[in-house]
Amino acid sequence: MAHAAQVQRMSRLMIKTLRDDPADAETASHKLLVRAGYVRRSSAGIWTWLPLGKKVLENVSRVVREEMDAIGGQEVLLPALLPKEPYEASNRWEEYGDLLFRLKDRKGADYLLGPTHEEIFTLTVKDQCTSYKDLPVILYQIQTKYRDEARPRSGVLRGREFQMKDSYSFDTTDEGLAQSYALHREAYTRIFERLGLDYRIVSAVSGAMGGSASEEFLAPAAAGEDTFVDCPACDYAANTEAVTVKVEPADGSAHGPVEELDTPDTPTIESLAEYLGVPAAATLKNLLIKVDGEIVAVGVPGNREVDLGKLGEHLAPATVELVTAEDFVDRPDLVRGYVGPQGLAGKAFRYLADPRVAPGTAWVTGANKEGKHARNVVAGRDFEVDEYLDVVVVEPGDPCPECGTGLKIDRAIEIGHIFQLGRKYADAFELDVLGQNGKPARVTMGSYGIGVSRAVAALAEQTHDDKGLCWPREIAPADVHVVAAGKAKQTELALEVGEQLGAAGLRVLVDDRAGVSPGVKFTDAELLGVPTIVVAGRRAAEGVVEVKDRRTGEREELTVEEAVARLS
Ligand code: ATP
Ligand code: MG
Ligand code: MG
Ligand code: MG
Repeated sequence: MAHAAQVQRMSRLMIKTLRDDPADAETASHKLLVRAGYVRRSSAGIWTWLPLGKKVLENVSRVVREEMDAIGGQEVLLPALLPKEPYEASNRWEEYGDLLFRLKDRKGADYLLGPTHEEIFTLTVKDQCTSYKDLPVILYQIQTKYRDEARPRSGVLRGREFQMKDSYSFDTTDEGLAQSYALHREAYTRIFERLGLDYRIVSAVSGAMGGSASEEFLAPAAAGEDTFVDCPACDYAANTEAVTVKVEPADGSAHGPVEELDTPDTPTIESLAEYLGVPAAATLKNLLIKVDGEIVAVGVPGNREVDLGKLGEHLAPATVELVTAEDFVDRPDLVRGYVGPQGLAGKAFRYLADPRVAPGTAWVTGANKEGKHARNVVAGRDFEVDEYLDVVVVEPGDPCPECGTGLKIDRAIEIGHIFQLGRKYADAFELDVLGQNGKPARVTMGSYGIGVSRAVAALAEQTHDDKGLCWPREIAPADVHVVAAGKAKQTELALEVGEQLGAAGLRVLVDDRAGVSPGVKFTDAELLGVPTIVVAGRRAAEGVVEVKDRRTGEREELTVEEAVARLS
């Protein structure tokens, strides 16, 4: 479906461009989307989409929608405000911890703002589908999601309120699920190609254990928060969160001697506190204590802090190893085991390890022995701590596990994630349909997400230049940006060109602002990033305009007629 033609006069467009970067902005997309008047910050991680920004967002949504429809997806819209009970049934009311926005209604009942919707989709299908004949089904929505991210940053790249396309597949057989997954993988490939994003499909679970049960679509960009290993010679690519390995310090040597606390007597709270350099009364975060090689206590923040007082009773006269996050950062020689703020998750490692890990190296953790994807997990609760005590630093040039070629390591933005869930939610909600054999058959599910608002920022990251944004045409807020560079004659011609381009089916932005100098208009045109700029300037009286390609800067002078023919 083509874009609807439109002529938008800038004199009537609500837009205020800025010369300076917002003070708190670190990434190009954040700076440019704000400066170009596409988005404005409302509060931390929460954004207002202004007219041009909304157009871009809609363009991304349209592409997503068309490709989801093409694989037979049916669009629905579930509520964003959700009751607690289904999330209790799946245990995610607990598991999500601080990430969840929780609220109460006037009667005191608990609600949440949906961070993702597996539970509610499962219930919807339980209500609507009763027989194997009703399946397979693919449902999707494009909706506002809420996550109280610990570090909302980079503008709309990581919001606390953001737009996601989430879809869910329902099948009766494993083969059916594999098929639904494959359909999504193809749809995602088409979507990201149409969006003009450079992307890589990477394994999001350990290659050794997980096969293709979960893959991420990553857009390489320095601003990205994900790190992935990529083989230049074969298909192997994996998020570093998905590689299971052993710890070595950044200098490449085997890990140094583990510092041991030899205690002739039973260690006391005081001796522990002294060793750790904290007040004896402190509640320690990120604490791991081993006695004779056995873990006796693991502490992570939030509900799992370790109280030193309670620890005392576990400690027999023995060799005690203590590792805290703080120690870990300053004392590579202490590395043995470590628990980060999210349990033993890749992000925690990266975040806390950054000060001592050379740029370009990656910290990796991965799936546990059963191949379960281990992210945002809590050691000791979700898996045996011992499984994870060894972690390794993968460095550029390390051999690819599939072909041995030296690996590259890059930063990227996670723009999509596809996942074979299996029967986890169907079990939690007893989602069965009547099977072919007349008996109930448990349904198997997949879930698939695309960060629609994040994709806008990812595109800005990948396509901008030093002058501003630089959209691919399919996503741009207009096809052509016509600049009236002069007085009445130029404005008249600019509007005339705009009308003709509009009549030819194009989306046109005409900068007809009075009292704005040509210089400012040129700067704004480059900042806004519409792919073609047409200037009615010096030769307006002859009916000649300049047609300029925003990306390459190539320009040529054409008559209006030629310009319209060229561009439509
Ligand atoms: P991340 O690792 O960046 O936190 P995620 O793995 O938690 O993302 P998913 O649960 O897989 O995210 O959600 C599906 C998609 O939604 C992601 O691939 C991403 O594109 C998008 N997304 C997730 N969190 C955010 C956010 N805070 N802001 C914008 N988009 C997001
Ligand atoms: Mg996340
Ligand atoms: Mg992720
Ligand atoms: Mg993900």
